[in-house]
Amino acid sequence: MDLLKQRIQTDGLILNNSLLKVDSFLNQQIDPELMMKIGEEFVRRFKDEKITKILTIESSGIAVSVMTGLILKVPVIFARKRKPKVTGDDVYTAKVYSYTKGESNTIMISKQFLQPEDSVLIIDDFLANGEAAAGLANIVEQANAKLVGIGIVIEKSFQPGAQKLTAAGYRVESLARIKAFTNGQVEFM
Ligand code: 5GP
Repeated sequence: MDLLKQRIQTDGLILNNSLLKVDSFLNQQIDPELMMKIGEEFVRRFKDEKITKILTIESSGIAVSVMTGLILKVPVIFARKRKPKVTGDDVYTAKVYSYTKGESNTIMISKQFLQPEDSVLIIDDFLANGEAAAGLANIVEQANAKLVGIGIVIEKSFQPGAQKLTAAGYRVESLARIKAFTNGQVEFM
């Protein structure tokens, strides 16, 4: 997706040679037009699948998931990183180690939102070590629903997430794949 790659080149900031800051269009300020184009691209890539729900994790996966859900006319569910007071005990949970925060979270969604008849597309903003996506996939499996694939906005291909998920048999579609950060520049695959 050239538009996304150009935006990463112009607006992305590399931190500690391992993290990409894209606060101006994805992680804090959100560019709705770009999010819609990303949603359209996910829909194009998964057009042969009958998707009934989109599953993401709060908070940065939500915007792009909503755009995708809007096009497909399916609900979007986001896993919580902390249990809200109003959520009951009837929840699916998975443990996820956060690469950016250096801590483990138990993510959860209420059981009522995933049924065995569902075909689920997982979407997230970044793929690094694959922890978040694997936790979401685990929740889909607990619900005995079908996982059609994992859509990622930015994959850092120099980290093991994509390989791990592909080896586990999941279809991973990443719209921008970063090979390396070289001399302060983003190098794509
Ligand atoms: P993983 O679970 O694959 O190790 O990491 C993915 C999660 O960590 C994403 O949900 C994202 O929030 C965060 N993350 C990982 N790497 C980056 C990065 O380079 N930049 C930003 N902004 N978030 C990242």
